[in-house]
Amino acid sequence: MNESENLGIDVSLFCPAQHHVGNLRQFAAEIGYQPRGGQLAAWPPHRSDSWWEVRCPDGCPGVLGGAVDPIRQEVKRLADDPRRTIAHYTLKRVG
Ligand SMILES: [Zn+2]
Repeated sequence: MNESENLGIDVSLFCPAQHHVGNLRQFAAEIGYQPRGGQLAAWPPHRSDSWWEVRCPDGCPGVLGGAVDPIRQEVKRLADDPRRTIAHYTLKRVG
């Protein structure tokens, strides 16, 4: 396996109480989101979306997520490290 290749990344998303919410998976230029126990789909759901919200599946109050751009930049930053294929990201509470 060529270690200089970008192998993509699987970022586990957690709520501020560290419940597993889902995963953002980047491969090549595409990012997909898979909610815990659910199906992988495009992320953000519409290309033009600039805001993304998700709820904690364990019932924490409020909504998590926020602006798409900083989350996308963090996923890309993590994916740029070829030695890294998994990562952990804590979502902010935004409402
Ligand atoms: Zn939670």
